[in-house]
Amino acid sequence: MKNYRDDLDDILEKARQHGVHSIITIGIDEESSIAAVELAKKHSLIKASIGIHPHDVNQIKPETYQRLKTLAAENKEHIVGYGEIGLDYAKLYAEPAVQQKAFCEQLDLAKELDLPVIIHNRDAHDDTLDILRQSGPFPRGGVMHCFSGDTLLAEQIINLGFYLSIPGVVTFKNGIELQKVAATVPLDSLLLETDGPFLSPVPWRGKRNEPSYLPYTAARVAELRGISLEELADQTSNNAQTLFRYSVQ
Ligand SMILES: [Zn+2]
Repeated sequence: MKNYRDDLDDILEKARQHGVHSIITIGIDEESSIAAVELAKKHSLIKASIGIHPHDVNQIKPETYQRLKTLAAENKEHIVGYGEIGLDYAKLYAEPAVQQKAFCEQLDLAKELDLPVIIHNRDAHDDTLDILRQSGPFPRGGVMHCFSGDTLLAEQIINLGFYLSIPGVVTFKNGIELQKVAATVPLDSLLLETDGPFLSPVPWRGKRNEPSYLPYTAARVAELRGISLEELADQTSNNAQTLFRYSVQ
């Protein structure tokens, strides 16, 4: 995102100093997917995902998927996931039917590319679940990023073999539902994320989010579960490396 253009080197250095040893940067359309791969080539800390976000599915042209396939084939060592893909009925930048078609097509494409999927779901829990059930199984699995449901949805997602990713919302006073989820789901199903530049954890709420703030989210989840920050950090780091198949040197 352009929010990081001016001080990226500082951001990466701060991330390292705060114990963040890998960052997955997300493609949301063709241009940003290419940019994500370029960043991953340049910085050892960064891995890339590619895909077309539900906000951007109106831009999909007949050749878009072929171009993403070529990008994936040429950059296997840098691309660890496919997404964000999914459904967003809060903003509705594209009609639900258009979003659903693109979601299904890209779930198939992710399977063809042998990549785990990164799912964006906003106010579309039922349709997201239906499509995941119909399009499964997913041999490489996936993650429901920026999880925003309740403990029932969490259970349904985990039953599909997916991880849940917890954003900084878990540190908010009004993040009670997410706190319940973070406290109770199995530790081997949990991931942490920034969702930068959005959703900064307290005490940075409202400011631009960045990877060095992730320990605030981690600390809150550890506190909710009554375990040490180290244990939580180790387990979520291992989970990320298992799902996205990379190892930290
Ligand atoms: Zn998202």
